[in-house]
Amino acid sequence: MTPEELQRYSRQIILPGFGTAGQQRLRGARALVVGAGGLGSPASIYLAAAGVGTLGMVEFDTVERHNLHRQILHSDAAVGRSKLESAEARLREINPHVRFTGHADRLTAENARRIFKEYDIVVDGSDNFATRYLVNDAAALCRKPLVYGAIFQFEGQIALFAPHLGGPCYRCLFPEPPPPGAVPNCAEAGVFGALAGTVGSLQALLAMRQLAGIGEPPLGQLMRFDALRWRTTRFTVPKNENCALCGAAPSITDLDPARYAPAACAAPTPTNADTMNSTAGSETPMEITAEAAHDRLADDDPPVLLDVREPFEVEIGAIDGHRHIPLRQLPEAYETLPRDRPVVVYCHHGMRSLRAAEFLRAKGFARAQSLAGGIDRWSTAIDPAVPRY
Ligand SMILES: [Zn+2]
Repeated sequence: MTPEELQRYSRQIILPGFGTAGQQRLRGARALVVGAGGLGSPASIYLAAAGVGTLGMVEFDTVERHNLHRQILHSDAAVGRSKLESAEARLREINPHVRFTGHADRLTAENARRIFKEYDIVVDGSDNFATRYLVNDAAALCRKPLVYGAIFQFEGQIALFAPHLGGPCYRCLFPEPPPPGAVPNCAEAGVFGALAGTVGSLQALLAMRQLAGIGEPPLGQLMRFDALRWRTTRFTVPKNENCALCGAAPSITDLDPARYAPAACAAPTPTNADTMNSTAGSETPMEITAEAAHDRLADDDPPVLLDVREPFEVEIGAIDGHRHIPLRQLPEAYETLPRDRPVVVYCHHGMRSLRAAEFLRAKGFARAQSLAGGIDRWSTAIDPAVPRY
């Protein structure tokens, strides 16, 4: 390292356990950041500033003004320009020692493995499910550690997935993408810029630890940050022996383009027209309070209580007597619900269940309702024995 580099990195070199050896490992490392957006911006800025030797980036889009509040790589003057070029210019300003490799393409099933092979680690800054599953599958097939990050409204998630090191993959946690439109994107749901900054920075931190070889890789741990309730939760994610990608008998052994159709993220949500038609003539409001739902369960005609959360959430706690169908499986499984009874759908905070209730109404379940505030509200208002998370 040159005296200039020693000076530049001195405050991390003096960290116990990091030292010049850690810095040298970073210098020799190749990190790929997928996307120059809300997560990719802070992640790539910190990786570049820290002196990662080669920084690759996959990005095909242009800078848009409504993304600037979280995509801090890009300036107002770059609106309308290539995000990749804007990112490269900014990262070179931050640290001219870093070799920047831009991949000016959409990540596809055809190019993902070829690109991933060139790197030691992949940082996922994608913002849609099709790309997220593609990144997960390609990283696992290339045996590259994957730093996963995702944000939704006030919630962020971070994990290191490395099935080749014995940990689970993203599919162990969420086997299949949710149905098109079941989960709103940032454009519909909103997001705090600083939350993207928090999650992207944690991704950079995880990648640096991994590349420098310090700390234990947090395999099988999903960290969740709730920016509104100011709470961090850590979930243990076991490896799923039946995982289609990293299980004992995997069915996903190559990247089939059909599996990652972009339509999976671009498809519209159930339209308002559908919802309005399905609720026309119905007196039942879309949401029901925990108190009212509790009363209804004692009725002569009690509702079916449908839990649309993920299995690992149900394990934490559920409402007695519930039926469990994760939201992503609802399009295949809704026919198993009785049509002659009211349905009260619940999730964690009432967002997924609202989508599910809208979906059910569009399928003719005129009395489907969403439990406002989700199981969290149930726990505070009705049954404190149900754990909050
Ligand atoms: Zn897996």
